[in-house]
Amino acid sequence: MARYTGAVCRQCRREGQKLFLKGERCYTDKCGIVRRQYAPGQHGQSRKKMSEYGLQLREKQKARRYYGVLEKQFSKYFEIANKKAGVTGENLLSILESRLDNVAYRLGFGTSRPEARQLVRHGHFTVNGRKVNIPSFLVKPGDVISIKEGSRSSSKIKDVLEITSSRAVPKWLDLDRNTLTAKVLNLAERDDIDFDIQEHLIVELYSK
Ligand code: SF4
Repeated sequence: MARYTGAVCRQCRREGQKLFLKGERCYTDKCGIVRRQYAPGQHGQSRKKMSEYGLQLREKQKARRYYGVLEKQFSKYFEIANKKAGVTGENLLSILESRLDNVAYRLGFGTSRPEARQLVRHGHFTVNGRKVNIPSFLVKPGDVISIKEGSRSSSKIKDVLEITSSRAVPKWLDLDRNTLTAKVLNLAERDDIDFDIQEHLIVELYSK
């Protein structure tokens, strides 16, 4: 499967925004975008006026990179969002938020989305009591996500939980830190999503 294998921080520098792809490092002054506040590449420091299409493309790429989704899967999510009632851009973000790797990250079961995705793949989580190792699994209201019994004592999981212990959990998820179990109360709404993105530009891009 095609996936991005280049330098991670380049993606944030390209989008001109922190995408929080490297866990704790993202909150320090070692963050790539703090150290070099310009786009990567030979022409990264020259200012160019972007076309309307360029702006739309950048917003789409930003969302893809933030959630770690490939192009094909992203356009499928758009199709689903477009068919649903309501505002397409908000539907799209809500679908992306309901991916299991994102939910694990939001719960602090990963210091970054890429790490949460890897932990999902390694089978550390259950949904409604059954092991789920598919990062793109979409949770729904009422689902119960938990760290697998046998994984709770692993040093990796313990380290992650210690690092994320002070992180706020969004209100659409109800986390019990004692049992390491969380319930999805409802799907994320736009106000719940702290992502600086103009989703209407993505809708415009796909509506061409
Ligand atoms: Fe992005 Fe994190 Fe790298 Fe900063 S440290 S540029 S937020 S991935």
